[in-house]
Amino acid sequence: MRLYRFLVIIALLMGIAQCFFFDIVNSVPTDTVLDQPEPAVEESVAEVEGQIEIIQSREFTQNADYKCGAKWGRCPMGTCCSASGYCGTSQLHCRSPDCLIDWGQCDADRTPEGPPTKDILRPSIGKVPYGPQEIRSCTVPGTVALTFDDGPTRYTGELLDLLDKYEAPATFFVTGVNNGKGQIDDPSLPWAPLIERMLLSGHQIASHTWSHEDLSKITPTQRRDQMEKNEAALRNIMGSFPTYMRPPFSKCHAGSGCREAMGDMGYHIILYDIDTDDWKNDSPDHIQLSKDLFDNALAKGNPATKSWLVIGHDAHEQTVHNLTEHMLKTIIRLGYRPVTVGDCLQDPRDNWYRIDNRWPGHKNKKKPPRKGPQKGIPQQVSVDGSCGSNYTCLGSHFGLCCSSVYLCGNTTLHCGVGCRKDSGYCTVETPSNGDPWDPKFPGKSGKSEGESDFRAVGTAALTSLLLALIAAMFM
Ligand SMILES: [Zn+2]
Repeated sequence: MRLYRFLVIIALLMGIAQCFFFDIVNSVPTDTVLDQPEPAVEESVAEVEGQIEIIQSREFTQNADYKCGAKWGRCPMGTCCSASGYCGTSQLHCRSPDCLIDWGQCDADRTPEGPPTKDILRPSIGKVPYGPQEIRSCTVPGTVALTFDDGPTRYTGELLDLLDKYEAPATFFVTGVNNGKGQIDDPSLPWAPLIERMLLSGHQIASHTWSHEDLSKITPTQRRDQMEKNEAALRNIMGSFPTYMRPPFSKCHAGSGCREAMGDMGYHIILYDIDTDDWKNDSPDHIQLSKDLFDNALAKGNPATKSWLVIGHDAHEQTVHNLTEHMLKTIIRLGYRPVTVGDCLQDPRDNWYRIDNRWPGHKNKKKPPRKGPQKGIPQQVSVDGSCGSNYTCLGSHFGLCCSSVYLCGNTTLHCGVGCRKDSGYCTVETPSNGDPWDPKFPGKSGKSEGESDFRAVGTAALTSLLLALIAAMFM
């Protein structure tokens, strides 16, 4: 009986103590990285990194391990150096062109499948000048070559719809992996079908490098890498790669060796004579400035004698939803004709690309389709704009991204916070502040240091209390 009473008392005490400590432990205001509220997707890299810096200065003593750049050196293996000089593995750290290629890994380090293109012969075919000469204007009177850089992006499908509506050919200077979009030839992403659609619709595909680095600032080897990786990725989609390119930031400075290198690789260097500044004016309130720039330029010329080469970007919402239709209407109203860059230079279409006979086009299509959230059941393309479960937005006409309320679209509401990666494309992944490589972060599923300490203290106190009670009962 005495033993029974002892066991009951012990059990009761343990239960009370466990409940007591468990509640306290879970109510402890933890203060580590793992418990920081996740930053909203809209937050800039600087803001996120600012949070990281605050956390680091508060929690850790060896901040040097997290910094990178000329002063701090390379990041640990497998991690990326962000534009602001912090090591990490999140998309915000690794996405090109912000990611610092000299001080860590970047998403651009990956190489497209298939044989390298470096051994393919590159004769200077046709009459259009190759590098080192830069081309800033068209030669066929009455033509306007609209060009779009930095895509494909989530807006590109809508731009293609618009160009179809006006039966207007354009030129796309495609970047292989930039702004966290992944590789253009990745069969699980929507970019390759968009590039195929460009070709089928009569548009011209040109290169805007692999990851949008400034070709005047990188080494000759890096410059070649930037061109050849994009060639391989486009070859994997088209079976060929372009002879036309535009340098990122329109910079291929004399003296840097860039222009000569482009000529050696068999590229026409294409600039422009109308800059819409659309990237500066990407809001409903400001896009009129870009429209004015375009209209004022065209007003100076006569379609009987004049032609234009225009730069825009399909990475910007207002360019696709507002500016481009205005430009098309103006082109038609003034008696001009929208054409590709190759056509405005009177270069036959066969000269726009170099075929890689070693690698059949569309090879990546043979890979199995992306699986849906229900294991083993392939997702079908959304037919009514809804998504989730067994329906994906990829390939639909409603937009690429599946929102948190299961609707397809291309707006930030669809593609940003809450976007469902399992049923479409998402622009920015939630930043990961606690990088697993870092020994200071206990791991994604780990508990905070503060919690661990408190639990240890609580367990020790409970043990001491029980021992004291047992001793009292037998005295
Ligand atoms: Zn660009």
